[in-house]
Amino acid sequence: MGKTSKTLFSLISIYLLLGVFLGSLSYKFFIDDFIFLEKNQNKDNITSLANILNEDLIDLEKITNDYSKWDETYNFIENGNDIYIYDNFREDAQTLEDLGIDAFIYVDKNDNIIFSTYNKRINYFNIDKTKLEKDLLVDLENVDEVSTLYMFENKLFYVFKSKILRSDFLGKYRGYILSIKHVDLDYLKQITSSIFDNIVLKNIDKVASKPDVKIRLKHLKDVNAYVNIYDNQIINKVEFFNYKNQYLTTFVTTNKNSIILQGKHTIKIFNFIGAIILLIVFIVIFQKQRLIIEQNELLNEKVNKRTKQLTRAYRSLKVKNKELYKLAHTDFLTSIRNRANFFENSIKLLKKSNNENKKFSVLMIDIDHFKKINDTYGHDTGDKVLIEFCNIVNDIIQKDMIFGRLGGEEFAITIFNKEQSSIYKLSEKIRDKCATSQIKVEDINIQFTISMGVVFKENENESIDEILHKADQLLYKAKNSGRNRVVRAV
Ligand code: GH3
Ligand code: MG
Ligand code: MG
Repeated sequence: MGKTSKTLFSLISIYLLLGVFLGSLSYKFFIDDFIFLEKNQNKDNITSLANILNEDLIDLEKITNDYSKWDETYNFIENGNDIYIYDNFREDAQTLEDLGIDAFIYVDKNDNIIFSTYNKRINYFNIDKTKLEKDLLVDLENVDEVSTLYMFENKLFYVFKSKILRSDFLGKYRGYILSIKHVDLDYLKQITSSIFDNIVLKNIDKVASKPDVKIRLKHLKDVNAYVNIYDNQIINKVEFFNYKNQYLTTFVTTNKNSIILQGKHTIKIFNFIGAIILLIVFIVIFQKQRLIIEQNELLNEKVNKRTKQLTRAYRSLKVKNKELYKLAHTDFLTSIRNRANFFENSIKLLKKSNNENKKFSVLMIDIDHFKKINDTYGHDTGDKVLIEFCNIVNDIIQKDMIFGRLGGEEFAITIFNKEQSSIYKLSEKIRDKCATSQIKVEDINIQFTISMGVVFKENENESIDEILHKADQLLYKAKNSGRNRVVRAV
């Protein structure tokens, strides 16, 4: 996997992780607010429902009081005057229909029913009116005036019990009017259709736990609601009680949790936009990263190339240096040590001999009549003789002996820790080998001889120049004595 694809992979991973993290965080963060709003809205909805029932009870109370606090009603109860009924309930059911009430029951002080009237709807329900009246008298026996919800034969009613009084309120009460109105669920559904999708009446057992919503209204002392918010809808169980705080029935309402759904939708859009922004940010980061990686790779390539070049240059420089060193320390023609090299190493050798108190000797050599060789066979042949001479010497001497060309056809050898006898033997061997060798150049055999001066270090104070000077003098002696000989210090 390349660096770029690695970066891409890690960026995608970070993007996904961050996306999921921020997504769920935003969901957690916002959804609670929407749930809170939804709950508040739902509480308002339940309150509205309870309010409608309460208002209906207040209406019933008002209408009934128009009759119960009326002198004619008072007189009717006191005197049994039938004109009252004729005047007010001539068309019986129609009057109640106009009032929006289902029944009026007139009762005297001793709970004897003086008069009762029902509208068509109650007749249509086909309920047992006698039982209803009897139940009502028992259930509301000890109260003078009350407004309450009432259950009879699985039907819910508004009931208002009111004392019959004179309009000046001075006389003693003569009896009661009980007014009844059926709680019309269809009508309720219709007017709450904007807040509830459906309302069902269920006479289930009262829920024992603490209610989610508790409402108290003038005629509805206790309305308990249990709220269940599901994925798609809210189901409320709204419990209603009678004036004695006895459980009556439960309204099960359903409606869509539209705020939460809307909220989820909003969060989705929010997250979608967030994801796109995040994506753009990551793309920009990726592009930048890729650019940096590319630049880096380019730079690395350049550096590597440069390093290779430098290494190569360094290597060839080392080789060149070696060659240069060799050139600077080697005689170009004969490949043996040049003058500088000879002196440098001979001085070291002399120092060593001084330090270790060992012998030090010098052989100074000059080729005889070399000018003549040059003159006779040419300068090139002279060169070959020089080369051949060096080969002869190199074959004879040991590796640790310092052999160098001092200039022209003049050479010297410095030797460490060798006895005089072996030095003499060596010098004679060289001289002899040169004299007996034949150098073949273009079918001509050339012979040559050498003269040599051999000296030894006499004390530790002698310098290399002094010792070489002594050797040179002896060499001069050898020349003067007829050449092809070795002259040694006595
Ligand atoms: P002697 O026996 O007294 O030493 O005589 P010689 O001729 O060897 O001495 P001389 O000093 O008169 O001549 C040395 C000659 O060596 C002179 C010079 O031309 C020659 N020579 C010096 N260097 C080179 C060289 O590198 N190559 C060749 N071919 N000749 C050289
Ligand atoms: Mg010479
Ligand atoms: Mg010479």
